[in-house]
Amino acid sequence: MEKIKMTTPLVEMDGDEMTRILWKMIKDELILPFVDLKTEYYDLGLPHRDETGDQVTIDSARAACKYGVAVKCATITPNAQRMTEYKLHKMWKSPNGTIRSIMDGTVFRAPITIPSIHPVVKNWEKPITIARHAYGDVYKSVELRADEPGVAKLVFDGESGKHEEVVVHNFDAPGVIQGMHNTDKSIRSFAHSCFKFAVDTKQDLWFATKDTISKTYDARFREIFQEVYEQEYKAKFESLGLTYFYTLIDDAVARVIRSKGGFIWACKNYDGDVMSDMLSTAFGSLAMMTSVLVSPDGNYEYEAAHGTVTRHYYRYLKGEETSTNPMATIFAWSGALRKRGELDGIDALVNFGNQLEAACFDTLNDGIATKDLVNLMEGVDVKPANSKEFIAAIRQRLEKRLA
Ligand code: NAD
Repeated sequence: MEKIKMTTPLVEMDGDEMTRILWKMIKDELILPFVDLKTEYYDLGLPHRDETGDQVTIDSARAACKYGVAVKCATITPNAQRMTEYKLHKMWKSPNGTIRSIMDGTVFRAPITIPSIHPVVKNWEKPITIARHAYGDVYKSVELRADEPGVAKLVFDGESGKHEEVVVHNFDAPGVIQGMHNTDKSIRSFAHSCFKFAVDTKQDLWFATKDTISKTYDARFREIFQEVYEQEYKAKFESLGLTYFYTLIDDAVARVIRSKGGFIWACKNYDGDVMSDMLSTAFGSLAMMTSVLVSPDGNYEYEAAHGTVTRHYYRYLKGEETSTNPMATIFAWSGALRKRGELDGIDALVNFGNQLEAACFDTLNDGIATKDLVNLMEGVDVKPANSKEFIAAIRQRLEKRLA
């Protein structure tokens, strides 16, 4: 069988620990035998980030902006314990944070659903994708403890000399104060990424805030989304039969629970933080959650939503067998290759991405699964497999599909 040719390189961001081991297995077994793989390789493994003073992370994100599509392995975000473990020169920042700020993107997380794993919410038939705004609000807030009676004010001094102030509260006893912000630019980028991704994946888009209470702050989010929608995406949505709708966050929560799924739910920063964990738990497993960063100008970075699975890695280092679930990492590859194929007009590559995912579903539907899924799957006789066996079973089915 002739290998599928690529024209533009995929930006490959390698990572750490157990996911780094899976990365190589996935490439060797599921990609390289079928695709004449063209990548621009960046090693984001912690030792190499440390050696390069984290320059490699910055370079990889710039490459993602240059070529348009990247695939990323999970990486360690260093803490005090990692400083000693890896003898680091510095406590480097989260690579995902660095990449996100360079690409100026929004993260979309979606569960990989299979018939034998039933979501906690019975009526969810299709995945629900969460889009989380990743800038500002409470994550960039300033806070004060008012430890005596007094007045708290919000003050704005414009460059023009304009001065505005409002009283936050007249304290007659101690309390707490918080000031937060967002920018029109960031909200607009968020809106563009959401509308683009909705068009791309042909799903409706829901957006919700609390603008009945927050009449200026949250209302600004609503206004910008509406403006961006009407000016740039309404016609496209209508021609694809898609819907954009805005509602209150409490109404959205009720509708999400009662829905059949199959849409994108755009959330402000804090709502997205909380709701994405709720959704991944309710859909079954973090190991079955994919994640893609989409920039407002249409660049994509695909990854798994989970981390480097440290516990399994330590067992692997001792020579023990591990049954780490590679699904989300495989879907990062299939998603990235499919997107590369779409952008370059290579149908064979698009088809390969689809067939790779189908082969994964065939394997699970045949009852072959990693240990984390065994207790979640119902109605099939499940045979637990280690990572190697699981990937080999996918390869068999992929070969059959591509033959
Ligand atoms: P983790 O996602 O690696 O593990 C959390 C839990 O889920 C563990 O119990 C683990 O065994 C289980 N799990 C996760 N993925 C699994 C899989 N594919 N198969 C089987 N079980 C799986 O998160 P953590 O333990 O909090 O963090 C470990 C390391 O990963 C940390 O150094 C952290 O900085 C990093 N991390 C990276 C990313 C990323 O790069 N996107 C995200 C989160 C955490």
